[in-house]
Amino acid sequence: MIVIANNEGKSGIPTAARLLAAGAPGLDALEAGIELVEDDEEVCTVGRGGWPNLLGEVELDASAMHGTSLRTGAVGGLKGFRHPIRVARQVLERLPHELLIGAGAERFAAEIGAERIELLTERSRGAWQRWFEAEVSEEDRRRWPEVALERYCHDAVDPEIGKDTTVFLAQDAERHLVSGTSTSGWGWKYPGRLGDSPIIGAGSYADSRYGACACTGAGEMTIRAGTSRAVVLYMKMGMSVGRAVEEAINDMRALQGGLLNRVTIHAIDNRGNHRVVAVNGMEGNHYWLWTPGMDAPQAFPAEIVEITPQVTRKKGAMSVYTRPDGMPG
Ligand code: ASP
Repeated sequence: MIVIANNEGKSGIPTAARLLAAGAPGLDALEAGIELVEDDEEVCTVGRGGWPNLLGEVELDASAMHGTSLRTGAVGGLKGFRHPIRVARQVLERLPHELLIGAGAERFAAEIGAERIELLTERSRGAWQRWFEAEVSEEDRRRWPEVALERYCHDAVDPEIGKDTTVFLAQDAERHLVSGTSTSGWGWKYPGRLGDSPIIGAGSYADSRYGACACTGAGEMTIRAGTSRAVVLYMKMGMSVGRAVEEAINDMRALQGGLLNRVTIHAIDNRGNHRVVAVNGMEGNHYWLWTPGMDAPQAFPAEIVEITPQVTRKKGAMSVYTRPDGMPG
């Protein structure tokens, strides 16, 4: 048995660990843990209190995967519901589909009786309002929201520099591997932008025969590199969990142009080993781990690896790097 959560998973991992220790199915433990993070208003990128998009609306993404059936469920751009992870789990359990977005996801959430909630808090509404007043031109403020948003999503700087999301990985007492994610995505994102969290294979993947992986940070990069699926596939091909993560980081080195920024890769294998690496990470990046024998989950620092040395834009949610040879992106 094992459970790993990223730094933002602090408020949920003790419950997930307790449930796993009591023999609960992995997905039940993850869902219960992630719901607590969704309710934790100190976490500004998950559930209520998550940073809104450029229009000041909170759009939530979540996913769940069972590594034995290889069933998945995910929602993207869900507005107005308290627990996107619960809705994602029910997509997995009830529908012949894997991913619902926007109005369809909201319709399904209502159909299953999911709880509605106001997702903006005083803090997140205030932060957006301050950004709006400081960064949006007077003319655009007059015409808002009938304005071109492209330039704002390039220049936007959310108050926490885009961190984070919550991701959980576990192996339960029956040796099933599971993964779960939940996020409001990057603050000040273009409306409708999906990150990697609801994209199975990018933001998470679990296969009970080999291992599981989940990522946080710039989902644009892990979508392009297919990171979570790649890590598990590299394990299938015989690499250790540590080597598999290194190989996925090598894949990221090939990315050119677009948004290149921080990504943290969390991975476990089916024998209880794990590796967590923060690509272009910052001091203080950490994750939570619980295994039987530990009284409580403990925080450990993530390893830090640099792959993009030079920042060209202001350091913010949409930082873009230049290659060392001076080529764009
Ligand atoms: N990976 C998330 C996304 O791209 C954001 C994050 O973890 O910071 O939406």
